Amino acid sequence: MSKGTKVPGYMQGKGSRNPRGIIGDREIRYKCSLQNTILDVLRGRPGWQEVPGQNNVQQNVQTNAKQQGTTPQSSKSGDGDWDFYWCDREWLAQNYDTMFLYEHQKILHFRNHYELTRKNLMVKNLKRLKKQTEREQGKAEGLSFEFFPTTYELPSEYHIFVEEFKKNPGIIWIMKPAARAQGRGIFLFRRLKDITDWKKGEYQPLSDPNREVPETYVVQRYIENPYLIGGRKFDVRVYVLVVSYNPLKVWLYRSGFARFSNTRFSLDSIEDTYVHLTNVAVQKNAPDYDPDKGCKWSTQQLRKYLAAKHGVEAVKKAFKGIDNIIIKSLQSVQKIIINDKHCFEMYGYDVLFDSDLKPWLIEINASPSLTASGKEDYDLKFGLLNDLLNVLDLENRLTGKEKRIGGWDLLWEDGPILADDGNMECTPNGTTASIPNSFLGCHNDRKRQLRELYTAAQSIKKS
Ligand code: ADP
Repeated sequence: MSKGTKVPGYMQGKGSRNPRGIIGDREIRYKCSLQNTILDVLRGRPGWQEVPGQNNVQQNVQTNAKQQGTTPQSSKSGDGDWDFYWCDREWLAQNYDTMFLYEHQKILHFRNHYELTRKNLMVKNLKRLKKQTEREQGKAEGLSFEFFPTTYELPSEYHIFVEEFKKNPGIIWIMKPAARAQGRGIFLFRRLKDITDWKKGEYQPLSDPNREVPETYVVQRYIENPYLIGGRKFDVRVYVLVVSYNPLKVWLYRSGFARFSNTRFSLDSIEDTYVHLTNVAVQKNAPDYDPDKGCKWSTQQLRKYLAAKHGVEAVKKAFKGIDNIIIKSLQSVQKIIINDKHCFEMYGYDVLFDSDLKPWLIEINASPSLTASGKEDYDLKFGLLNDLLNVLDLENRLTGKEKRIGGWDLLWEDGPILADDGNMECTPNGTTASIPNSFLGCHNDRKRQLRELYTAAQSIKKS
């Protein structure tokens, strides 16, 4: 990957960017592979302009330039002149290695994001960091990694799994295809026989020359005691933004949602996906699903409910566990991810609370759904994405020292970030300092905060 440090011609000699989203004397040009909320956000952003055309034009220009050993110029076609690209993962995988990026360009996804977002690789990386931590800092420190259920990769770890299975007779396991999403291909089982049948049906040993490589699955201990509200299971979607892996710089969004299953939880019917899988994609097919009611609660609603039931301190502890999950998981791939200052990633973490309010990491998505399921969901995603652009600050309106931008709070920058005084909405008495700058499920008064932030940043920049 060649990293451009040269500033393209149209940017040279343009002086500072003005505060209305315009670089020099022109607008910020974006491309977007998706047709949902992100496109609405980009289209609605003052001073931003969509670049028309096909995805592959710039890549061709750059590949040619690379082959000829020359520095690529901005594409004459106009297609290459983008500043910001919300691309899909497939596009990035096909184009990144031959792409030239100018200093100012920003693109969604890190090249090998799958190290964290493929179920088998996520667990492999977590296990490795856990072991290393135990070796270097002792077993006690290793306990801070006890947030992912026991997991094995199949078929490669089948024999180790069988040993583990026999040690724990009667417990429930969940099988999940490593690279699929939306609950597809998932099933639960109690008996080894069920998986023997699956083994016969789903993949054959490699000795069968007519089959491709068998699909990788993970088999994972099923969390049998999920926290229930109204008798229903739910998991929590948490949005995390990584703007750099080296140093690690992480933002956590205050708002998100809990996704409930449609049917009351029970271990009697382990084959019923409407009971056990909380994916909206699964639940919306349930016969009694009510699209107006949906099956979501805001994270604020959830936090309030839990605080009323268990007290503020218990909830703080539970949510602190989520911060730990976020940081440990990102650290587990910190040395592996190809860090590139042009790249950023917005992850959707799926976290499940058990009946003791202990959070468990279920999975991490690099393309969390941005399609809204209703008005409230649309508002959440619209604000989330707008604030993401505020954090990236292509308009150069901020100072770069902010700890909070709209609904995003800076959680980590090469170390934990502590909250400023006066930003204590979630503390019981609202006074003490030195609490982490983490406000998941807290009040998200993003518009007011942004107004104040931009006014303050403007006066700092002037002085
Ligand atoms: P997908 O990528 O297909 O959505 P997930 O790993 O997120 O796969 O699993 C789908 C759903 O199944 C989760 O949202 C959760 O409700 C449930 N689930 C997954 N793993 C477990 C587990 N180990 N214990 C309990 N429930 C689980």
